[in-house]
Amino acid sequence: MIRSDQIVGSAHTLMRALAPPDDQQHSVTASGLQDLHAGRRVRGASQEDGKTLCRAFRRAARLRTMLGFAQTDNETLVSCLGDRQRAVAAYHALLRRGENALNAIRAGLHHEHPAVREGCCRLLDHLVDTDSMDELIVMADDPDARVRISAFHALACDRCKGDTCAPGADRVLDPALRHLDSDPDPHVRSMAAELVGKFAHTDVRAVAALEASHTRDSSPAVRKKAGWYIPGGTIYERTVPRAPK
Ligand SMILES: [Zn+2]
Repeated sequence: MIRSDQIVGSAHTLMRALAPPDDQQHSVTASGLQDLHAGRRVRGASQEDGKTLCRAFRRAARLRTMLGFAQTDNETLVSCLGDRQRAVAAYHALLRRGENALNAIRAGLHHEHPAVREGCCRLLDHLVDTDSMDELIVMADDPDARVRISAFHALACDRCKGDTCAPGADRVLDPALRHLDSDPDPHVRSMAAELVGKFAHTDVRAVAALEASHTRDSSPAVRKKAGWYIPGGTIYERTVPRAPK
């Protein structure tokens, strides 16, 4: 059984060893490890050693960050979503905290850093509740395309949710139609098509908008995707409601 302080210790050693070469104190070890990392031969070490070392290093670094987060408050974790080095570990730490972190995640939707807002939308894909659904809907109009993409995913997606159902047409169809028609980013239009597609069997506006997109959108990928959700399209036909017996 490895104790957490041992993992932290060994990860720390590795990270120090891999510090940039201008860190004189560790540069000798660092160059050796970096040679291994780059697949170059180092006396006394095999190429396999290098690969194992790299894997161990990455795992240890992740663990170290995650363990280091044990005492971190929710607000700080949310702001770490904007830090490339720590975003993944912070995301998973927040996901584990679940509804205890929900207030901080909701506040993070207003963060100045787009990556934080995006991360919070992705977290809400799993953690959204009735109270925070409206805030997620507002994010579909965020100025940053990546935020809009994750907001539309979260609004369309049932897979990642627990008990909370995806919201109904009365709440999300209007923004989805608007972005399908005129969002400048093709990925956003594509995600909007998915959301609009959920209402293809129940709302005539949905089919009309998807047909328009299927014929007219400037992006071939969006045209193709819209085609899946209109009558004759694979997803439309697969999801036809069964006639009551
Ligand atoms: Zn999802």
